Amino acid sequence: MSNILVYALHFEGAINKNSLGAISAAAKLAGDLGGEAHVVLVGDDISDDTAASVGAYGATKAYRVNAAAGTAQPVVDALDQIASGGDYGYALFGGGLLGFEAGAGLAARRGGGIAVEVTGLTVDGGKLVAERPVLGDSQISKIGFKGFGVVVGRLNAFEATEGGSPAPVEDVTVELSKAAGQINVVTRGEQRGADVNIEDAQVLITGGRGLGKPESFSLAEDLAGAFGGNAAVAATRAAVDAGWFPYAGQIGQTGKTVAPKLYVGLGVSGAIQHKVGMQSAEAIVAINKDANAPIFDFADLGVVGDLHAITPALTEAIKAKKG
Ligand SMILES: Cc1cc2nc3c(=O)[nH]c(=O)nc-3n(C[C@H](O)[C@H](O)[C@H](O)COP(=O)(O)OP(=O)(O)OC[C@H]3O[C@@H](n4cnc5c(N)ncnc54)[C@H](O)[C@@H]3O)c2cc1C
Repeated sequence: MSNILVYALHFEGAINKNSLGAISAAAKLAGDLGGEAHVVLVGDDISDDTAASVGAYGATKAYRVNAAAGTAQPVVDALDQIASGGDYGYALFGGGLLGFEAGAGLAARRGGGIAVEVTGLTVDGGKLVAERPVLGDSQISKIGFKGFGVVVGRLNAFEATEGGSPAPVEDVTVELSKAAGQINVVTRGEQRGADVNIEDAQVLITGGRGLGKPESFSLAEDLAGAFGGNAAVAATRAAVDAGWFPYAGQIGQTGKTVAPKLYVGLGVSGAIQHKVGMQSAEAIVAINKDANAPIFDFADLGVVGDLHAITPALTEAIKAKKG
């Protein structure tokens, strides 16, 4: 038997969607392992209701730790102490930068193993097996653990499913390490662009990894600006994962499904996971320097060439046409 600890990130009383997905996944897996999923929340403003709400996603206990939220070190201290005091074989993080940082710290602290960017989890022979895409997402590797196992999911890899009742909340006093006191959280806030609304846009200019750097998203913004009105900028997962664009603007299997009148892909390869989120667009235009890019198989209009040269020219042409 082994229980699973899940770290739940929260902001202004709401638990992060990826954390809720991780809790649901942990609850199911813990059942298969003959154990339970318990959640750890770290912060100095966590209400009873917020902490107990994790029960709705299958957790049977919520540990509330009074320490600064938003940095990894107190999370490592909290999970390590709680894991030491019970029958815990695994810790699960929903994804995101804090999950990477805290997950790595926890694995090191406990002398355990870590699997990151995990998209699937199963139980085999009474042990957890993590699935992780590799080689440009073309293959899936399976990862088992010796000793304590830490899993950090890919953003949105785990679906949040509601169904349980509020969990009992236990306040835990954690002895924080010296490192935890060396960071001051000045302010916390929503990710820049979290309010990006791509689902209602009639024209979507989508930036992919082919843009090369975050600053090149200005090409997409200028083109959207030329269309004016109901045009917006979106992104592929590769661009979002690189931190070039907020997740709220991601199209695809683990992002949003859109159906604009016009989709323009700038340096987008057209991977299946992206295609499923935009294939209902009325017209698909792709600019890609690789004539064999998969997006040309389903684009209505394809332009083979360097987006850095073509996009500004297209922007000027649209401005001129619009007068
Ligand atoms: C479980 C799972 C879920 C996923 N969910 C999503 C999802 O929701 N959304 C999503 O988008 N992806 C998703 N992916 C990832 C997906 O498989 C691809 O890796 C991703 O879509 C690739 O993004 P991209 O097209 O920006 O990058 P790449 O595949 O790297 O393509 C970049 C393209 O830019 C072109 N290029 C480069 N330089 C230039 C230039 N100067 N001018 C013109 N073209 C240029 C290249 O020829 C290339 O075709 C998921 C993967 C998995 C395994």
